[in-house]
Amino acid sequence: MQNILIKNGVLVPMIKSGKYFAGDILIENGRIKEIGQIISADCMVIDATDCFVLPGFIQCHVHTVQSLLRHQADDLELLDWLKKRTWPYEAALDGDGVEAASELGIAELLLGGTTTALDFGTTHNHDRVFKTARGMGIRLFSGKTHMDTGTDVPKQILENTEYSLREAEDLGKKWNNNGRLKYVVEPRFALSCTEILMKEAVKLARKNNWLLHTHANESINEVRRVKKLTKKSNIAYLKKVGFLGKDVILAHGVHVTDSELKTLKDTNTRICHCPGANLKLASGIADVPKYLKNKIVVALGADGPPCNNKLSIFQEMSLAATVHKIKHGPRAMDAWTVLGMATREGARALNILDQIGTLEVGKSADITIIKRDSMSLHPDGDPASQIVYGATASDVRDVLIDGELIVRDSKLLKFKHQEIQTKAQIAWKATRARMKI
Ligand SMILES: [Zn+2]
Repeated sequence: MQNILIKNGVLVPMIKSGKYFAGDILIENGRIKEIGQIISADCMVIDATDCFVLPGFIQCHVHTVQSLLRHQADDLELLDWLKKRTWPYEAALDGDGVEAASELGIAELLLGGTTTALDFGTTHNHDRVFKTARGMGIRLFSGKTHMDTGTDVPKQILENTEYSLREAEDLGKKWNNNGRLKYVVEPRFALSCTEILMKEAVKLARKNNWLLHTHANESINEVRRVKKLTKKSNIAYLKKVGFLGKDVILAHGVHVTDSELKTLKDTNTRICHCPGANLKLASGIADVPKYLKNKIVVALGADGPPCNNKLSIFQEMSLAATVHKIKHGPRAMDAWTVLGMATREGARALNILDQIGTLEVGKSADITIIKRDSMSLHPDGDPASQIVYGATASDVRDVLIDGELIVRDSKLLKFKHQEIQTKAQIAWKATRARMKI
């Protein structure tokens, strides 16, 4: 592998809030070898003059497989959004659709500086997501979704419990630790899964040391239905089936009672905050300052293209830094805290902070370089303020994962943007025809 020297950047290591300095980073064999003023080295040089150099962004809840449905499911609340648009779409997706969708989603993530994502699949063809991710070079935690019950679910995405879990185990054995890929066990949510499925999913994940991921406490209607179905609050139900702990990331956590919050804290369960999707589906606003006060690990994620409609960490950072000020005042969620959620805390949530999430010697060289060309990044200011409030995905110039250059001058090195878009258009047309809309 080529060794690389990143020169003259403003380094924002994200080990500590407020710390940044001018300097260089030497990458050898995919890892950060040295940070500081490095005079010269016999390797490729990336000039980062007037650029911010950060740990690659980490999103802990996305659905790349939903990318073809982008801009086709606006102005709906969660359960209608699932019933009327998202489930019929997933039911109509074939293998080529899964591939085209994940390619479009992953391309957007990489171009926007996200180097690691925790991704939710659909029930079928998940091999194609992993193949695509492997080819594109992203660090992807992903799994097929499980659904073995529920109302209004098309039969194509409802599965036999045993079959569904067996397929997950086969996928995990094939793809976990295959390059930068990790398998994650992902029941969709309490309303789509039988209790036996939830319990067996937990067993499967823990037997193999894989993470667990699901949606929880996202909308009021969902919370009410879970209570009616299980006779418990959502978090109490997850506790009953064993689906809480340091190896669990719950997307959303918008409507959480004090006693549920205490359970999350006691079990060290992680939350992924998705402010863009929560606002668009009118689900509500998760009380992130309260989570943080209780020392609960909170990461960020854009959720799905049809409920956001972007996979931009910059949009999520900007929202996370602003929406909480309404309830908690202007000092709630400063820019450094939010930038930490998008980098270091994401790695902590995935239990890989020893490998990525900060710029430190010995860690994998997952690095995002942001250029300061945009008017909104001038004239000056604190780097966290510039990045969180002023930058957008198009300000990302270069992206490295394990020291491999994936994006250079805002272009994917191994893929043509037009080809990804054309493939997605063709796949969407075919999927839409099967959806009969
Ligand atoms: Zn989701």
